[in-house]
Amino acid sequence: MLPYAAITIGQKGEGELVDIQGLAHRVIGFSDDGRGVKEADTMREAMARCAAADSIIAAHCEDMSLIPPGGAIHDGEFARAHGIPGIPSESEWAPIARDVELAKETGCRYHVCHVSTKESVAIIRQAKAQGIDVTCETGPHYLLLCQDDLQDLGRFKMNPPLRDREDMAALVEGILDGTIDMIATDHAPHSAEEKGRGLAKSAMGVVGIETAFPLMYTYFVETGRMSLEMLIDRMVYAPRKRFRLDGGINIGDRAEITVFDLNADKTIDPADFLSKGKATPFEGWKVHAECKLTICGEKVAYENM
Ligand SMILES: [Zn+2]
Repeated sequence: MLPYAAITIGQKGEGELVDIQGLAHRVIGFSDDGRGVKEADTMREAMARCAAADSIIAAHCEDMSLIPPGGAIHDGEFARAHGIPGIPSESEWAPIARDVELAKETGCRYHVCHVSTKESVAIIRQAKAQGIDVTCETGPHYLLLCQDDLQDLGRFKMNPPLRDREDMAALVEGILDGTIDMIATDHAPHSAEEKGRGLAKSAMGVVGIETAFPLMYTYFVETGRMSLEMLIDRMVYAPRKRFRLDGGINIGDRAEITVFDLNADKTIDPADFLSKGKATPFEGWKVHAECKLTICGEKVAYENM
């Protein structure tokens, strides 16, 4: 599979753009994931060049200037009660509001990574209604957890953070009405040491690849909140279409197939993970789906029969 290229080079994620025209045919798209593109002029120019190259920008929307030093979890009740610096919702939705206007102006295909706030959902819903070429994703942890579920453990720390219950409800509504196109994981492995320093000091990020489908199947499909067809669209077909990925299940396609047993009865245990990263907020959750086989191209990549 093709990689992403960075939008910018330089320490602060701003200023100089990479050679978008020269790289576009070698990559899926362009992203500065892990940090936001700070200057509007930089993003405008990147979008103009991406539009000219028929490529896509997948943006990590985060305005660091709105986050206090040491910002670790959502700027809400839990942060205040425990004296932990908070990450305000505006640090996510303000750059999204800026970028959808730039996408409108430039005609760039634009995707927002890991949406976590109700304001972000509202902005993207409105942008889509205006015909702006924007898509977005969220992750299972934002659909199933909120700040009420926090424990002072590194496995509950990721960026963006778990938000308010109202945000979680808005994300679920967004997934169901199609405002949120995709479910991704923002899979971010870290060592036990990096994740062993509580909420305030642990590294940002949790793993999700091995738990995403079982969780979504068990808590959305089995509970009747979503059809299996919709879940497969959000996790497979929508990303494949938006990012023009090859692979499929029809004759002639490059095989990209995952087989699940939907009658499994499992408890999520990080000791079972193949990933070296073990930090998951879903430790101990019961799930009713288990990956049995993955086929990638001509190779069986994983088998658990
Ligand atoms: Zn990111």
